[in-house]
Amino acid sequence: MALIVQKYGGTSVAGANRIKNVARRIIKKREAGHQVVVVVSAMGDTTDDLIKKAYRINEFPDKRELDVLLSTGEVVSSTLLAMALHGMGYPAISLSGAQAGIKTDAAYSRARITSIEPTRITRELEKGNIVIVAGFQGVTEDLDITTLGRGGSDTTAVALAAILKAEACERYTDVDGIYTADPRLLPEAKRLSEIGYEEMLEMVTYGFKAIHPRAVELGEFYGVPIIVASSFKEKPGTLIHKEVSMEIRNKVRGIAHDLDVAKITVVGVPDHPGIAAQIFVPLAEAGISIDTIVQNASVKNITDLTFTIEKSQLNVAMAVVEPIARSIGAEKCVGDLNWGKVSIIGTGMQNAPGYAARMFDTLSKENINIQLITTSEIRITCIIEEARVKDAVRALHHAFELDKEA
Ligand code: ADP
Ligand code: ASP
Ligand code: MG
Repeated sequence: MALIVQKYGGTSVAGANRIKNVARRIIKKREAGHQVVVVVSAMGDTTDDLIKKAYRINEFPDKRELDVLLSTGEVVSSTLLAMALHGMGYPAISLSGAQAGIKTDAAYSRARITSIEPTRITRELEKGNIVIVAGFQGVTEDLDITTLGRGGSDTTAVALAAILKAEACERYTDVDGIYTADPRLLPEAKRLSEIGYEEMLEMVTYGFKAIHPRAVELGEFYGVPIIVASSFKEKPGTLIHKEVSMEIRNKVRGIAHDLDVAKITVVGVPDHPGIAAQIFVPLAEAGISIDTIVQNASVKNITDLTFTIEKSQLNVAMAVVEPIARSIGAEKCVGDLNWGKVSIIGTGMQNAPGYAARMFDTLSKENINIQLITTSEIRITCIIEEARVKDAVRALHHAFELDKEA
């Protein structure tokens, strides 16, 4: 008898029929002789709706109150799922994050799990219960409720799988696995049967909003195999794990894209020590996370500094940077929104020449202008016009023969 952690996303529990469908799937596992711990997201668009409600009441909602409000979405779905299981004749109990022993720091809306005390879960399993845990939430030392950041139920599930030493974490969602590109953008994308943690983490960080990045990090650290599969169809899905075969390692594995890119250029910056700190320290203090930074080689001690951020942060970032640019004697500060990024990702790129050349050549044949380029050992990213991102993904998918992936 194995212990399995299953996680069902928002679409999978959106409505009574879908909750009953999930209950039937859990029962199947249970009938196969397994102990099951289930983590659920809030139903459908509940979290978005709760956020809208809060902002309608107050433009600057208190972070502690907001987290309590958002945590209720997952409490609703977990209790309904327990009731569905009862209705089908199976013993089940729902637990909030706090009841499940999930402790976090106090960084509201993006809390990190600091420890899990699973005694209540274990006790309920021993009693024969199917345990349903409300995802995306925890509790501080002072018993204040926190949430783990959007998409955080994935992290709840993998963290529980790690602490309970579960055989696997099965993540059920509205697609039947991880694809070589976002299937909503590129219908011809192919499902990957397996992928390594490192590549998966790079993919989710650079645009595949297919699983929460912290969940992949935790999976890698604790060696939890994660299976991504459909909650509607009986299909094999994608296995995220360590032991990916050599042959598969030797390729580009996916084309990630992200349309949420704004760019700021500080033009004509006097180039002397400390300038970058003068610009980026206040941005960090304002809570703005910077993605790509490029500084041109200076000519006559004058340089341009360009960086990218999320679109929603452009106004705040410009308000921080403009006065600094004036005070350091820069010529001007230009910010605009219409950017996107496209990345090729795969461990096969490590120490192998030719990938960058093929990427740039493909984009040039499509007449797509590259604004900025960044790389890691297993990724090359180009910042391009937002309007050309789809064309770029399609062309690169073809050029790196991902349409042939099985
Ligand atoms: P859930 O609500 O189950 O947590 P998410 O919406 O968080 O599900 O994640 C699943 C979605 O991720 C899919 O609907 C899909 O559009 C998107 N996605 C983006 N890139 C990919 C990819 N490369 N492979 C699979 N899904 C992807
Ligand atoms: N309900 C939360 C969200 O929509 C957490 C999750 O679904 O994982 O972000
Ligand atoms: Mg999600």
